[in-house]
Parts: sequence; structure tokens; C-alpha cells
Amino acid sequence: MKTPFAFALTTAVAALKIASAQQALSPGAAPELVKIKDNIYVLQNVNSNMADLRDYGGNAIIYLTPSVVVLIDSKSDREHEDLIAKVKTLSDKPIKYVVLTHNHGDHTGGAAKLAATGATLLISSKDRDAMVRNNQPGVPELAYSGQFRIATGGKELQLREFRGHTRADTVVSFPAERVICAGDLMTTADTIPMIVNYGDGGSWTDWSESIDEILRWDFDTLIPGHGPAISKAQVEQIRRRFGAIMDRVRAMNRERKPADEITQTLIREFKWGEGPSAGQIPGMMIELR
Ligand SMILES: [Zn+2]
Repeated sequence: MKTPFAFALTTAVAALKIASAQQALSPGAAPELVKIKDNIYVLQNVNSNMADLRDYGGNAIIYLTPSVVVLIDSKSDREHEDLIAKVKTLSDKPIKYVVLTHNHGDHTGGAAKLAATGATLLISSKDRDAMVRNNQPGVPELAYSGQFRIATGGKELQLREFRGHTRADTVVSFPAERVICAGDLMTTADTIPMIVNYGDGGSWTDWSESIDEILRWDFDTLIPGHGPAISKAQVEQIRRRFGAIMDRVRAMNRERKPADEITQTLIREFKWGEGPSAGQIPGMMIELR
């Protein structure tokens, strides 16, 4: 049985092939380090396309302290050695903790190899269960529900569970730096649109409530699961845009519009609903009645 991620990826790759049959699905150059703060870097794909996502995984955040390194997400299995080499250009300290924001393979692909280096991995309990069900490699030894704190290297990380993209996404906050990592609760690359994964318990209604709650926090910068970091004002813009998309689906649902018309309307009005987000419409029609 395919994992939900493999299924989503297959669907997305198929959509990409249709969209640009002549464009080869080979990944671009290796991901690059993007500095967010003196002690926070993102290992970010050069191209925000599905080929880079498949081969390199999503964003991994590197958090430096005087005595240890903490990673948020693990990129892909094949990107592991490059990830380690790039962390070494920033710090000679060991990677002590790896927080996985959710169970999808583009965020957990490097987990097994990181665990083998001696790092302690953790994820929300419900998304850990999903990894076990899907027979994914690198299932973390530690799992939490609700919220969790890691105090290490003289710094504190706050973890909080939200439903949205999956049933239990983890948002990591670095309060001292006023930076948060949202996993796939937010993506900022046009070519990797935001979706909720209904197969993994996601929900647009819960997504909007989760983002509203996060917007009440004190932060300046949000690092998404895919694409560049954004300001709090940009998070508010994305929240409004998807609020409008959800309202439009509700209104068309009331008028009993068919899925195809809803899809075409969303593409026309919001440039959303094709490619990797095409499969969202039937689930939204059920959820947003
Ligand atoms: Zn995901």
C-alpha cells in the first residue's frame, strides 16, 4: 500500500507531467543555506518544484546553541550527507534533537539516518502513529500530545500541536529569536501550494483556527514547510486568502455547483486548485458545507 505521501507525490508528479510534458523531472542544484538569524538557518531547496521536493525533501531548520544543534525536519534520505556537511559549516556541535513537524516523507525522509548518528527524534503522538501505520522508516522514540518544551544549550524551544495539514502538526517556536517553524501548515512557494491532507486527518476548518491561534503569538518570522520564510503580516495575508477560498467553496456548495465548476472558479479567482492542490476540491465540498 502506498503511503499518503507517496500517493500525494504520485498525483502531484502526474499533474506536473501533464502541465509541462517537455520539462524533465530532474532536481536542480543541491539545497542552499538561508540565514534567518545568527543562530537559525534553513536548508532550502533552490527550486520550489516537485522534483526538488521529491529528491531533497522540504525545508529543514538548523537551530544553533553554544553546545548542541537542533533540527526541525530532516529533508530526504538521499539529502542526508549534504545536510550533515552543511550543518558542519555552521557548528562543530552534535545534532542532539530532531523535531519532525509531521509524518510526511518529505519531512521525515532523513529521520532514520539522523537517529543513527545519535540524535533524539520526536513528533506528535498522532503523527507518530501515522508513521507506524505507513511503515515509514525513522519513527521517533519520543512523542508528545498538546505541548512540549525542550530546554537545551541554554535555549528553549516550545512545541505545540495543531490540526490542519495533518491531524497533529507540530509548530516550533524559538521565543528568544521571535521565529516560528510551521511545517506544512504553511507553504510559501507558488508551485507547492498549501493543501490539507485529508488522508492524514487534515482539515481546512481546523487549519484556519490553528493559524488564527498562531497569529496571536508574539513572533516576527515564520519559516514554512516549503518556500522562503515570511513575516507575520504575510502570514495574515495568506490566512485571509484561504479564508476567502473557503468562503467561496461554501457559497458554491450552497448553490450546489459541481466539483468541476468549483475547481475552475478557484483557479480563475485565486490561482489555486490545480496541480498538487487539484485533489483538494472533493474533500472541501464535504468539509465546507
Ligand atoms: Zn506535508
